[in-house]
This record gives sequence, C-alpha cells and structure tokens, in this order.
Amino acid sequence: MAGEHSAAAGARPVIIAGNWKMNTTPGDAGRLAAEIAAATGAAGVTRVICPPYVCLEAVARALAGSGVQVGAQNVHAEVFGAYTGEVSAPMLGGLATWCIVGHSERRRDQGETDELVGRKLLRCIEYGLRPILCVGEQLAEREAGRAEATVGGQLEATLAELDRAGGTLPANLVIAYEPVWAIGTGRTARGSDAAAMAQAIRAVLADAGVADGAAQVPVLYGGSVTSGSIDEFLAEPDIDGALVGGASLKVDEMAGIVARAGLTAAGRAT
Ligand code: PEP
Repeated sequence: MAGEHSAAAGARPVIIAGNWKMNTTPGDAGRLAAEIAAATGAAGVTRVICPPYVCLEAVARALAGSGVQVGAQNVHAEVFGAYTGEVSAPMLGGLATWCIVGHSERRRDQGETDELVGRKLLRCIEYGLRPILCVGEQLAEREAGRAEATVGGQLEATLAELDRAGGTLPANLVIAYEPVWAIGTGRTARGSDAAAMAQAIRAVLADAGVADGAAQVPVLYGGSVTSGSIDEFLAEPDIDGALVGGASLKVDEMAGIVARAGLTAAGRAT
C-alpha cells in the first residue's frame, strides 16, 4: 500500500545479508562463504555475509573478488581500552565493511539499550562500516497494537543518542526490521505488515531530519526468511531485501533467496 512515506523503490538497492550468528569456525567458514558466493550472483543484488569475528579473516579471504561483501555482527561502543573480550570498530578495518548493530539477540542476551546502539552506530560511521541497524517489536507489543510505536521509539532513542554523541545519520544507513517473535521461530510477519513498518520507519527518519534521504534508506525484513518465504517481502516495494539468519548457512537456501531478489532487482531497474 502506498502511503505518505512509501518510497520510490527503484532508487534503492536490493540487499541480502546473511547473519551466521554463533556458527562456523575459522576452519570451515571460508569454504561455506565461497560456496555461497559461487551459488549466488544475481545482477543488482548486494550480497553481504556476517560471520563470527574469528571467521572474518577466512571469509574475507574467501570472498575477495567475488562481489560478496563482509560484515561483522556487532561492534563495541568504545574504540580502545579495558573492555576484555570486546572488538572495536578500528579492529574491524580490513576485515569487514558492514556491521550489524542492535540485533535483538544482543538486546536480549547482552542487555543492549537503544542508547548503547546509538553509540555503536556512531563508531560504525566514524570507521567507515556500513551499519545495518536492527529494530523490532515483541509479540505482545504487536498484539497490543503497539508495534509501530515500539519500533519508532527504538529508532528515535537511538538517533537521539547518536545526535547527543555528535554523530549524524549516515547516508548509507540500512535498517533491518526484525520482529523479535519471528527470529529463529519459523514464523514470519505478513509482507503487508512489514511494508507498513518500513513506511513508519521512513517517517521517523524523515522527522529526524533526513527529509531528502529517508526515502533512500533501504529497509530489510528479517525473521525466519527462507527461499520459500522471501517473495512475500520482495513483493512489497517498501521492502528492499532481507537479513537472513538460519537460512544463510545453507548454500541452496541462499541461492534461492538471492535468485528471487535478483528478479526484484531486475523489475526495479526497468
Ligand atoms: C537474524 O538473525 O537476524 C534472523 C532474522 O534470524 P532467522 O532468519 O534465523 O530468523
């Protein structure tokens, strides 16, 4: 449905990003990445693989020259210092060009707040990492009719912290709308609900001052996407691809997902 903040999809790239979460080892990640790169290759589709930190080097090496880009799954909000076990944005230089921030599993397991996510966003901007900012509501919030208010609130708080810390919204920002109840559950959102959320997200971005740019910000859907369910989201002009978790570890699934995305990209180009 075309609303006030329904955007001209033709101007935006189609993006398929795989989040491998805490899977693979440095010994097998490179081979899997190479197999995915070889099995995917639809024109007009930006492909990104986000392996665990310790696999970044092997994956970056395996993907060199393939056109598939590499992302980190997280970054610390500080640059250097006494933060045992953490990894900062400058450490990712040469290993990753993208970075997921605010994934709901980190909000749940590491207690990440919107304010912390805003500071992580700032580090991505400072160190040239293209951020995929994840937002999404809990099931109870959707059932109470508060999904858009919840996601809007997450975005506003994140952007307020970014502003307070002296950062400005990057032109290359990507948002992943990931309803928490759809992640890893096999249950997906309705395409129309995801599209309505994408419009709401762009409205918040426009209110935050990216008036010209809000329509250009890619909004991905994430939550149990497979080659069988991706079409429902790609059929929505407001959705620009997917952040894929479990299925991104399967070569055949990624081949199917990227092939479907390629049809969308070709349609947008005409
Ligand atoms: C994710 O990790 O961002 C995700 C959407 O996972 P899954 O596809 O497994 O639901």
